[in-house]
Amino acid sequence: MTEADILEFRNELTDRRRRLEGAVAGTGGLPQLTRLLQEVDEALQRIEVGLYGRCDTCHDDIEKDRLRIDPLIRTCLDHLTPEEQRALEQDLALATRVQGTMLPQRNLRAAGWEVSFHYEPAGAVSGDYCDLISGNDPAGDLFFLLGDVAGKGVAASMLMACLRAIVRTLADANLPLQTLVERANRLFCESVLPSHYATLVLGRAAPSGELEICNAGHCPPLLVRPGAIETIEATGLPLGLFCSSPYEVRRARFSRGDLLVLCTDGLLEARHGSGAEYGMGRLKEVAAACYGKSSRALVESCLQDLRAFRAGAPPSDDLSIMALGRAESAAR
Ligand SMILES: [Zn+2]
Repeated sequence: MTEADILEFRNELTDRRRRLEGAVAGTGGLPQLTRLLQEVDEALQRIEVGLYGRCDTCHDDIEKDRLRIDPLIRTCLDHLTPEEQRALEQDLALATRVQGTMLPQRNLRAAGWEVSFHYEPAGAVSGDYCDLISGNDPAGDLFFLLGDVAGKGVAASMLMACLRAIVRTLADANLPLQTLVERANRLFCESVLPSHYATLVLGRAAPSGELEICNAGHCPPLLVRPGAIETIEATGLPLGLFCSSPYEVRRARFSRGDLLVLCTDGLLEARHGSGAEYGMGRLKEVAAACYGKSSRALVESCLQDLRAFRAGAPPSDDLSIMALGRAESAAR
């Protein structure tokens, strides 16, 4: 742990101590609070003697993310008591269920579009954000989103839930796409620590076949057309970095057979046993071969090709793939 980390934890603990002391006095010395105060004092003591942040059992560093959530913990993840382990497993199982309820409808058809996606956490929960928002108005637009919150695991999944709430609230307000992303960025900036950010592609698909896309620092979506693949490079910075970041919008008109593919690092940076990366070139080839097919077929092809490439190597990152195309019944 760096000097700055220690200082941060000392300030945090001192602040908590002050508040606890007030609470203990106010409740006439409630035993649980008095015990907590004692634990805070012990943690401050460990800071003084240079033992803070080390596991009581193996003396290795305790994961810093976990200390930030609970500065009083004294063991690393490998050395939890059976009781703590059970509690953690139950928390994770619940988090997995909660996150599952946040996913949009599979194989959605709305506003003259059809959308398919694959969403696969590397662990219990994912830091990827995958969403589709269509209002009750059948003539209304369809919003599609795919993003990646920096980091992994539970902390990233909570930020993902925060981002989802922000975007869903704003999507209801009938704003121009650019304004929507700028506001989402500002709100996300205000709700997270400076070291946290998210890359995101946010698009709006109109019943007419018009498409608007804003790419906030995410890997470029691919627009698959006859004989050509266009990449939609970043039109702004990731969300959460600077409160007043500007964003631009790209526009495209879709014909029957055209497809749009979005993915996260879990696909592009997937590794073969030899260390080789999956990469954009390979995705372009798979996507080009799918021109004219359904969005579902495209997602399936990507997954098949990824499995063949990985040849049994385990996934190391959260994986999301989304594809959009015009629905069969949509007007040309
Ligand atoms: Zn340990």
